[in-house]
This record gives sequence, C-alpha cells and structure tokens, in this order.
Amino acid sequence: MGEAGDRAPLGFATRAIRTGHHRTAEAEHSEPIFATSSYVFASAAQAAARFAGDDPGNIYSRFSNPTVRAFEERLAVLEGGESCVATASGMSAILAVCLGLLQAGDRILSSRSLFGSTTMLFNKYLARFGIATDYVPLSDLAAWAAAIGPRTRLLYCETPSNPLTEMVDIRALADLAHAQACLLVVDNCFCTPALQRPLALGADLVIHSATKYLDGQGRCVGGAVVGDRQRVGEEVFGVLRTAGPSLSPFNAWVFLKGLETLSLRMDAHSRAAAALADWLATHPGVTRVHYPGRPDHPQHHLVGAQMRGGGGIVSFEVAGGQAAAWCLIDATELISITANLGDVKTTITHPATTTHGRLSPPERAEAGITDGLIRIAVGLEDLADIQADLARGLERIAAQRSAS
Ligand SMILES: *Cc1c(COP(=O)(O)O)cnc(C)c1O
Repeated sequence: MGEAGDRAPLGFATRAIRTGHHRTAEAEHSEPIFATSSYVFASAAQAAARFAGDDPGNIYSRFSNPTVRAFEERLAVLEGGESCVATASGMSAILAVCLGLLQAGDRILSSRSLFGSTTMLFNKYLARFGIATDYVPLSDLAAWAAAIGPRTRLLYCETPSNPLTEMVDIRALADLAHAQACLLVVDNCFCTPALQRPLALGADLVIHSATKYLDGQGRCVGGAVVGDRQRVGEEVFGVLRTAGPSLSPFNAWVFLKGLETLSLRMDAHSRAAAALADWLATHPGVTRVHYPGRPDHPQHHLVGAQMRGGGGIVSFEVAGGQAAAWCLIDATELISITANLGDVKTTITHPATTTHGRLSPPERAEAGITDGLIRIAVGLEDLADIQADLARGLERIAAQRSAS
C-alpha cells in the first residue's frame, strides 16, 4: 500500500472498492483471477531463497496467490486488522485459529449461542485433542467473568447470535479477556465490517464465513481470519500453509467483488429487516419478534454503540408451535427455504428442526429456540413482496386455527 501522506484517510466504501489490487503489467482495470497452482523462479538461487524465506515472492498457491492476497488485504483494511488469512470455509477459519493458537490442556470459553458446526467442532473434534470448551450465556458478562479458569486461553462469541439476535458488549468482553490474559475471538459473520468492527472494540481476532454477506449472492464457500501480524500473519497462516484449507482464487475473486458492494448491501439489508421486524410485530399472528434494531430487544442499547443498524436477520415466533411454523414456511412462494443467509434472496428457516435440530428438547428450550420460532435472512427483493409472502402463511395459520 502507498504512503498515507497528508491526505485524509479513505472512506469505508472507497477502501472496499480500491484496496488490495496491485495492477499488473497488463494494466487491467478489474482484479485478475490468478488460476495458477505454482509460480516460476528466475533461477535455482531464487527458488532456494524463496523456500528459505529470504525472498518474499510466491511459491505455491497453498501458501499464497495474488487474487487471494487481494481479498485478504481488502478485508484486513475493512476490519482494521494488520493481517488477514483467507480460508476454504468459515469453519476452516475457526479450525485454523484453534490449531494455530491452542494446545492440549487449553480451554475455550464460548457463548452458548453458536453456529451449530462450531459447537460440533469444539465438542467433538477439539475435545479429542485435549482442548475442552466451557459455555456461558452470550449477554451475561458476570457469567463470562466467573467462568474464566486458569487454563482458559480463548473467549469465543458471535454477536448478534443466530437465530435470536442476542448481543454482547464486545468492549466489556475484551476487557474481561485481557484481564485474565485470554484472547477474544469474534465471529463477525452476521454484521461484516460494514456494520461492526470488533478489533476496534478490543477483540483480538475476527472470524468470517465469507460464504454469507461478504459474497452476498450465495455463490461460493470461503472464510477468513483477521487480526495482528504475529497471531494471524504467522501462527494462523502457518496452519493454512501446512494443513492446506486454502481459499481458491476464483472464490477469492467472487468475494473481492462482493466487498465492493458490501456497505450498500448491508445498509439495504438492515433497512429492510428493520421494516419487516416492525411489520411482523404489529401482526396478530406473531407472538414475539427478535431484532436488535427494535427498542424491545434486551441489548438494544448496543445498536449504535458497537453496531451500525440492526443487521439483516429477523426471528419471530408464531403461536401454534412447529405445525404453525411449518405451515407458514410451506406457504411461501417467493422466499427460499434454505439454511443459508447473507444472500440478496430472502431465506427462511425453522431452527428447531434444522440448524438446532441436533439439540435435545431441554437444550433447545434453554437456548430459547421454541418450536414456533422462524428465522428470516432478509434479502434485497421489494419489501412488499416479502411481506405478502409471509402474510399468506400467517393467514393460513389463522384459517387453520379457526377451522379446528
Ligand atoms: C455459516 C457460518 C459459519 C461457517 O461458515 P462456512 O463458510 O459455512 O464454513 C460460521 N459462523 C457463522 C455465524 C455462520 O453463519
């Protein structure tokens, strides 16, 4: 990157569009896709210097690729981190952090509200290698403080959580972590740096499933870790380079293009979700709405303080449990019934029987996942069409209730 000089720092949208591309001799305007697995050395001596680490150039695309590097540079700048390592998926980003920074005997202290595969990774796989995980309720800072033990190395959370959009005060949690010589890792998938920058709030590492909003159009699977040069640039990168869950250049290119419209899209997702949440709250068939941007949300005070807007995810409950929820979901004609989120296409899911279906009924109850809960990842179609699609289901539930 060039020298900052006396010029004012570039704005977020400008950095999202302009950072990371180092134009080649071909003078291309759009970022090229470097579809190459390896790189040619000028001489045997240069090859030796590259392998010895004395010459920083490319060796092999498991280690580095110019298109992947462009995505990493751009995301690092947007999150305000020194280093970014792109990964083959969001899950491999989490795995790489754990492999790079933890060892047998260490403990993770995690929010109980987690992406399902993350819980599985912690409980089933990391546990086998002597890394145990303790769980606390996300927004309960006193519970976090009480649960940090002598072997706790890493605090882990997603905020807002999926699907109930519960939030935690990132700065307060970072202070707790640092007071006990622990690291705070935040999965920033739901917000993206367009709405929330955890590193600026004191978090040490940020995880992304680029599959979601960074892509924004549901095309590719990928992930990233952002943080400081030592932990991310050395330790996490070392895992990638050795174990190999590296991002493909094509996927990196799709995410680069996604970042260019990120702030526009996130603002539009947030606006649409806020309007949909307010509309749902007035509907007689809806018993509860979970949305950070609404004043009735328990951590509403954090919106504005650490997060810009309420994000694109809305959950709501209908009376009548699973039968009613399925009735509404099956009545949709436009909205996609799929577990993905962060797409321009609106998606709908029934967490109790899909993303949280592996939990036992008491575990689900404790997590607040009721049988009547429905999650919407609000897309960018016309809001009136999304509402009409949901209204059809709400009317069908009411009709069935009055018929029975
Ligand atoms: C999807 C998701 C992941 C996992 O990402 P993949 O790209 O599917 O591997 C992790 N965390 C959150 C919050 C997610 O939504």
